[in-house]
Amino acid sequence: MSDKPVLVLATTNQGKVAELVELLAEYFEVVPRPADVPETDEDQPTLVGNARKKATEIAVATGLAALADDTGLFVDALDGGPGVRTARYAGLGATFDQNIAKLLLALDGIEADGRPGWGAQFRTCIALVWPDGRELLGEGSVEGRIAAERRGSSGFGYDPVFAPLEGDGRTFGEMTRDEKARYNHRVRAFDDLLAQLELTEF
Ligand code: IMP
Repeated sequence: MSDKPVLVLATTNQGKVAELVELLAEYFEVVPRPADVPETDEDQPTLVGNARKKATEIAVATGLAALADDTGLFVDALDGGPGVRTARYAGLGATFDQNIAKLLLALDGIEADGRPGWGAQFRTCIALVWPDGRELLGEGSVEGRIAAERRGSSGFGYDPVFAPLEGDGRTFGEMTRDEKARYNHRVRAFDDLLAQLELTEF
């Protein structure tokens, strides 16, 4: 038995779980989300609202600390859309490909700002909530351009059409996992959270 406090993860995405267990192992004994905790209705107007709601519901249901993250793609030419609706942009249960298709269709014909593609930002918010109501919030973002067509097939989600400004023009879909990690909004949000955890007594 570990003497570290137990932390429950909201996500059931296996890729994310593996990443999180590694990142948080120093502080917590990380356990998966119990199957009997119902899915959260992500109906909040902000990423932080949804991340906090997901983590709080699990912390209350389990009596343990819980961690949840929420990510959105904010496109300038779409007034910040799809934003909090990024995962379900083309409808509930939409595939990555359907979401990208809807995005490119929405941008088709919109005058860009003189450079190829359209300005956009990925943002992630992570909430770590304890059953007594204490919480830590981590935030991370990356500026980029939406490419006019898909490029590359690595990663997931909108990776084939998002090229970080700090990069060399390639999309996330054209990068290795390590290359993407240099610009990755979720990694940045975790770094923000971990820096706060370092300073936290619990
Ligand atoms: P979630 O909050 O991690 O579920 O992400 C919300 C939406 O953003 C989903 O449609 C994901 O596919 C997309 N997304 C999140 N992170 C990334 C990323 O690093 N690259 C591309 N798409 C992402």
